Amino acid sequence: MTEDTQTFDSTVYYDDDADEEAIAHETVAVLGYGSQGHAHAQNLAESGVDVVVGLCEDSSSRAAAESDGLRYETPADAAAEADVVSVLVPDTVQPDVYENAVEPNLEAGDTLQFAHGFNIHYNQIQPPEDVDVTMVAPKSPGHLVRRNYENDEGTPGLLAIYQDATGEAHDKGLAYAAAIGCTRAGVVETSFREETETDLFGEQAVLCGGVTSLIKQGYETLVDAGYSPEMAYFEVLNELKLIVDLMYEDGLGGMWDSVSYTAEYGGLSRGDEIIDDQVRANMEEVLEDVQNGTFAREWISENQAGRPAYTQLRNAEKNHEIEAVGEELRDLFAWQEEADEGEEESAE
Ligand code: NAD
Ligand code: MG
Ligand code: MG
Ligand code: MG
Ligand code: MG
Repeated sequence: MTEDTQTFDSTVYYDDDADEEAIAHETVAVLGYGSQGHAHAQNLAESGVDVVVGLCEDSSSRAAAESDGLRYETPADAAAEADVVSVLVPDTVQPDVYENAVEPNLEAGDTLQFAHGFNIHYNQIQPPEDVDVTMVAPKSPGHLVRRNYENDEGTPGLLAIYQDATGEAHDKGLAYAAAIGCTRAGVVETSFREETETDLFGEQAVLCGGVTSLIKQGYETLVDAGYSPEMAYFEVLNELKLIVDLMYEDGLGGMWDSVSYTAEYGGLSRGDEIIDDQVRANMEEVLEDVQNGTFAREWISENQAGRPAYTQLRNAEKNHEIEAVGEELRDLFAWQEEADEGEEESAE
């Protein structure tokens, strides 16, 4: 019942594969009303599912949920009432919320639903055997999950079943994915292990960690060689968005087709000199730490200690020269208006 095999073949589900009836008569408790929570709760409700938002008595999100036309209870009362408990509080507080509000209120046949696998995969939450444990993880920030749904568009997502106590876990998970709009775009079948490990590796090695370090090294190389900080900023940070947009639309080839022949030859011939075998070996080490739980243990104890290392790293990043240069330049140039609009959208 519990996942023990690793599959990498991807099945993709669309609207026609899902039967929304599977959760149409369930009550879903959405715990948390942040990025994912507000989107799941509103999309589920508009798909006709009975939704109760679980929020602490002093939570400022209660007003937001109410003005969005949703009812709320404490996390414990919401969990007690619900058949499906969707755990959408931050990953770092989930074990606590689970222990205090969810576990005492789970009944046989209920569903515990996640949007990321960390706490289940690394055993920070150990559900009883008589509940279903599912994951529906939109591959997108919550404000897009909500906006796409409102525009009759979909958001790609992942579906994983960790535990199928009722025999209906898969149907219910897929129905949940349909109700938040994911099957409109496509839902890829995965496992808690695969989602968790690829997510952590991706954000550490490439998306968040790798890219920011690449930018800082590029910036420092130019500035240390005597070039102006402004030129360095534009070249290694600002232009990155344009390049990424091209890759997002048409893959690596779409990007290579759009840049000059000189950029294409220079990039193709020098890229692997920069990101070389040593970097590949570093990536394999990072992946190993994710796979063997070293990273998870480190992050869990870091949180228990009040995040001293995290705070130090965060401050060092804030104080990097490129941040001051960028702030000044973004104030001077016209694309700031667009960036401001984007911020408003993500804060909605
Ligand atoms: P978030 O930080 O945006 O929102 C968290 C919500 O939980 C807020 O409403 C907050 O008020 C509430 N909360 C915070 N601390 C709490 C506590 N101690 N007790 C009760 N409520 C508390 O979270 P998020 O980014 O939406 O993440 C939720 C889940 O979705 C996580 O598992 C995350 O990994 C996953 N996820 C997030 C994204 C994303 O883009 N943000 C994408 C996919 C999956
Ligand atoms: Mg219940
Ligand atoms: Mg991710
Ligand atoms: Mg992540
Ligand atoms: Mg250039």
